[in-house]
Amino acid sequence: MSAPEGTVPSTPEDRRAGGGAGHGAGRPASSGEHAKGARRRRGRVYLVGAGPGDPGLLTARALELIARADTILYDRLIPPQALAGARTDAELLFVGKQGGGESVPQEQTQALMIERALEGREVVRLKGGDPFVFGRGGEEALALREASIEFGVVPGVTAGVAAAAYAGIPVTHRGLSTGVALITGHEDPDKPERELDWRALAAFPGTLVFYMGVRQLPDITARLIAAGRDPSQPVALVERGTLPDQRTVAGPLATIAAIASREAVKAPAIAVVGAVAGLAEDLAWLPPRPLAGRTVAVTRARSQASVLAQRLGELGASVIEAPSIRTRPLAGPPLDPAPYDLICLTSPNGVEYLFERLAASGRDARALAGARLAAIGPGTARALAGHGIRADVVPERFVAESLVEALRDLDVKHALVASASGARTLLPDALRARGAQVDVLALYETVAEPLGEAALRRARAADYITFTSSSSVRYFLVPPRARGGTVDSSNTPTQLHGEKAAASEQPALSPRTRIVSIGPVTSATLRENGLEPHVEAARHDVDGLVEALLADAATHSR
Ligand code: SAH
Repeated sequence: MSAPEGTVPSTPEDRRAGGGAGHGAGRPASSGEHAKGARRRRGRVYLVGAGPGDPGLLTARALELIARADTILYDRLIPPQALAGARTDAELLFVGKQGGGESVPQEQTQALMIERALEGREVVRLKGGDPFVFGRGGEEALALREASIEFGVVPGVTAGVAAAAYAGIPVTHRGLSTGVALITGHEDPDKPERELDWRALAAFPGTLVFYMGVRQLPDITARLIAAGRDPSQPVALVERGTLPDQRTVAGPLATIAAIASREAVKAPAIAVVGAVAGLAEDLAWLPPRPLAGRTVAVTRARSQASVLAQRLGELGASVIEAPSIRTRPLAGPPLDPAPYDLICLTSPNGVEYLFERLAASGRDARALAGARLAAIGPGTARALAGHGIRADVVPERFVAESLVEALRDLDVKHALVASASGARTLLPDALRARGAQVDVLALYETVAEPLGEAALRRARAADYITFTSSSSVRYFLVPPRARGGTVDSSNTPTQLHGEKAAASEQPALSPRTRIVSIGPVTSATLRENGLEPHVEAARHDVDGLVEALLADAATHSR
């Protein structure tokens, strides 16, 4: 998938906002290919499994179809970020259950799917886990067949097997279990005509995996025991399996329901009943996740957020992506680096946009051969390395002051400082003070990223909020209605915090949210806006930020 130049895909979150079938989700115009011509080609529907939650368990085929789809109908239990690779103009429709509320009726979902296919669209029906395991995928396939719509099925990793595996439980094991039954525990226990044959289940010589609402657990365990299952048999409940905050709660069949209630086990969860559940103790393999149960908001630009979000996710945090800014390239004349003996780059973005500008001028990395290259920090140096260039100078601390210091002994006649529009002038000023001729090239600018109210609300209530630049602070504090303009980063929007926050009647942040700053410049901007950072990274990069946040989390219980 490639987004048109200069655009940043909006998040599923934003595109979901207020969306949902029949809730006025904007439908893009049919793509020309489909719309033109009197006889439209019929589209195809793919019933696609999205896996149990860990985005890494989405199959290659699922990702490929998501990236291609004109329309995606998705459920609640799909992995976060599953839709991140969707086309920016794809129609995303939420058809699942919202919280405890009503879901879009099955018939409506099916009708919608058929309607879009008849319009010639390629439709992905994206479901948690596997589409044919308690996913009503079979019903949908039948409806498609009846409507003579072509369809395909992409199996997914089903929760019953994956959540167990992530908890260290093989669902079959030589000598312990020679078979596994996947059972729905969602049936209404008050219905007299329950379909489950409890005697057969109790007698099943292998592992029973229940896909269930936690409320059903007392009934399930009681009926299994009544039907003859050994009350001492181990049971493992795996809550939010494969997600960063996965949890396993174990106990014998006789008392697991009480234990679950005491431990407040919540959906989604599976119950693994059988001797294999006992292996979890020995085979648990997930690394410790010190940020489990904590929510961390990431305000940096989406294009840069992924590394930070991924690191935090691996440590167990639930990450709220709330990008307040994005960058976009500035147009400019062709760039000829030949006259320069020093080129300074002050951010990874700067590196990327420098190469774009070079390419637009018909040049490539070779044009930089005559100059020494200085990078403000390791992230910028890494970005250069990505283009096959080793930075000549990388200071130990990652602020402009340190770069000035690191350049002290370098003989500089003509320097190019390539950075963002409105960047601090400390570096060019210092070089000029040493007698160098300095050209400042603004390669890109920072603009506000419109953010949905829902994401903003979640970010404001997070356990931690991270700020990785002054502009991310400024733009985050501007309420969404006021966003959208370009503001020179040297120009602080006035009365951000007090008045505007009061005007939108929303505090900028919850009083218990801990504020994490990447370094002293960002901290100063926070203070200017009336916010005192609780944590400031000693190393001013992603690793340093994560390290500081971890240290704080270790001393501050929730
Ligand atoms: N088609 C899905 C199942 C849908 S039914 C699949 O193949 O996995 C929904 C039930 O699946 C939930 O009530 C819960 O019991 C289970 N489930 C889904 N995701 C889960 C997860 N991440 N961890 C534990 N159980 C999960």
